Amino acid sequence: MTIPDEQEDQDVQIGQVNYRPSVLLRTLDRLASWFVDDRAYPNPDDKLRAKVFVLEHLFSPFLAFAIAAMLYFGADVTTTSLYLLVLGFSLFFAYPLAIKWGLSYRGVSISSLVQLSLLVFSSIYYFNGMQSFVIPWVAAIPVVGMLFIGVPGAILTCFLATLGLLTMLALHLSGHEFPQTVVAEWRSVAFILSASLCVIFISGIVLCHLSLYRLSQRRLQHELRRHQQTTARFRQARDAADKASLAKSRFLATASHEFRTPLTTIQAGIDLLLRYHDRIDENQRADYLHDVIHQVKTLTRMLDNLLLVGEEDETNIVFQPETMKLADVCQDMVRQMRLGAQKGDGLKISFSGDCKTAYMDEGIVRRILSNLLSNAIKYSPPQAEVSLAVARLGDMVLFRIDDHGEGIAESEVERIFERYYRVSGTQRVGGTGLGLSIVKAAVEAHHGTIRVDSRRGVGSSFIVNLPATSGEN
Ligand code: ADP
Repeated sequence: MTIPDEQEDQDVQIGQVNYRPSVLLRTLDRLASWFVDDRAYPNPDDKLRAKVFVLEHLFSPFLAFAIAAMLYFGADVTTTSLYLLVLGFSLFFAYPLAIKWGLSYRGVSISSLVQLSLLVFSSIYYFNGMQSFVIPWVAAIPVVGMLFIGVPGAILTCFLATLGLLTMLALHLSGHEFPQTVVAEWRSVAFILSASLCVIFISGIVLCHLSLYRLSQRRLQHELRRHQQTTARFRQARDAADKASLAKSRFLATASHEFRTPLTTIQAGIDLLLRYHDRIDENQRADYLHDVIHQVKTLTRMLDNLLLVGEEDETNIVFQPETMKLADVCQDMVRQMRLGAQKGDGLKISFSGDCKTAYMDEGIVRRILSNLLSNAIKYSPPQAEVSLAVARLGDMVLFRIDDHGEGIAESEVERIFERYYRVSGTQRVGGTGLGLSIVKAAVEAHHGTIRVDSRRGVGSSFIVNLPATSGEN
């Protein structure tokens, strides 16, 4: 499942359900978000209340103005009280800005609730007292209190509303005359209209609260999923790093062993030559010298590989093609291998096409061939046939190294190009697990490809394709 980052408030996918908030809801949410600073509301509930607060305070004054207009045109009202009502509700526009300017949300909402209560009760007083059409609005006070500050807000506003009603009742019972500003024939019309508007108002803000709640829940779940995905990615990266570090420690242990073995052989060979030079014949001397040369070559190759890996990755292989004597270089490689290897007698080379010269990087070609040929010999029985076929195919040169050695199991072929990876069971043969990772990097640096066909117990073929194009003549 993919979750698009930028569309989080447009289309949120949770499990199989695709949730798309309405355009109106999204617009309201954006409008409210402009006033509400995310950083000031780490708690999602507070943020939601702040948004509902903003929306209610942006829209309710218009409702109050509509009632004022109705009274102005349809009823005989005192203009002063009407102006006070309009002015009082106009002040509601200031509250969202107060939140935007960073005033405490709780303080702002409590003062807004107090002001709402005062407005409702002064309206009740001025517009016909206990028979006022404003009476249903008393119900709105605890509802908005609940939505703005939760249970404490509801308790506070219930208290204010009860206090106001009791005051009105006490005035009424003591025979106080309320200003009769709405004429008798308009009273029932005004009451029905006002009560309907009050129901619409309360339902509107409750609906708005629920919709925004739903939207923020979806966002939270979306964030949670993103968080889980990031954690999973982080875990994967950490596991990979752990694995790499383990492989590196293993490699260090193997490498020190690998260096010691040829050094011991070299030392023993030279010792023998020095001590018994007058007692050994020409052939034996040549054998000892071959052994020494072989071990020196092994050490040189290992050192070459190590130097590359010391740079942390093999991408520092620089591609510098020039016209090279391809056939001569390949023959030289094979000669060196034969000379160095104790069991390299079965090594054969063949050419097809024009392989005399090629526009290639000689260093890279030598690096690839030396690793692949030494592996082919290393993982084959003594004297087994190993062949290098070099073919010129247009702008490409194909190298194919075949052996009849132990082969590689299908399940492990994928991994042999990984750094430090050694096929299980080959531990008895010396190696560091670096050769093929370097071959792969070298092939890539030369913009070529490498493929391996191998069967356990039958043998392996490594096929390398390298371009040999521009500048050649
Ligand atoms: P190593 O230093 O172990 O030879 P490489 O990176 O050159 O490291 O090779 C990785 C592994 O691939 C080796 O450990 C070996 O098991 C396997 N492998 C490579 N070449 C051959 C081959 N020609 N025949 C059989 N196995 C091979």
